[in-house]
Amino acid sequence: MEHQLFSARFAQGREQHRIEHIAALRRHIASHVPQVLGAEEQHDLQHMREEEKIARDVYIQLGERWGLRPFLNISGAEQAHMDAIAALLSHYGLSDPAPGLPVGVFHTPAFQTLHDSLLAQGLRSERDAIQVGLRIEELDIFDLAEARSRTRQPEILAVYEDLERGSRNHLRAFYHHLVRLGDRYVAQHMRQADFDAVALSPHESC
Ligand code: ZN
Ligand code: ZN
Repeated sequence: MEHQLFSARFAQGREQHRIEHIAALRRHIASHVPQVLGAEEQHDLQHMREEEKIARDVYIQLGERWGLRPFLNISGAEQAHMDAIAALLSHYGLSDPAPGLPVGVFHTPAFQTLHDSLLAQGLRSERDAIQVGLRIEELDIFDLAEARSRTRQPEILAVYEDLERGSRNHLRAFYHHLVRLGDRYVAQHMRQADFDAVALSPHESC
């Protein structure tokens, strides 16, 4: 009971922190006059909006299946990541590829396929679920870094850097769980040395 009360207060504190954090990001975005974006910058924003939805949707579903704390905690952060990209899309007057789509439904066929295969894997076992979490965070860090290298807009860079920091923390949380299960992880998107450097470094506060 005591513990549940503490958890509920902790979750409330985290939610409050998230609301303030996203409000600060929105103010930062609004402080810049939107410039005209190149086709690649536009595509990257729309791509990252759907990629953050993959993370949120898969974690919600795996959290329900396995009741594992990292998924329940992190799915809320992924909602904030989706909101941050949506704020950029509206700042630049770009269309949103995920407008009010339900959990597990994607506009782009390649993302639907990716979601379905990650979910199927994660439903097999708790170990598979943690592997899927690591795969998603690794892909997110890799794609955010690529997208970051293709823009010089300060408000986009601020959001990408914020999401990358969040993703590194998520990767660390899943990695700790992996170690507890006595499992290991082979990087597929990042170089293994880069993955290990993130996984083994301390949590970053934002
Ligand atoms: Zn994210
Ligand atoms: Zn994440």
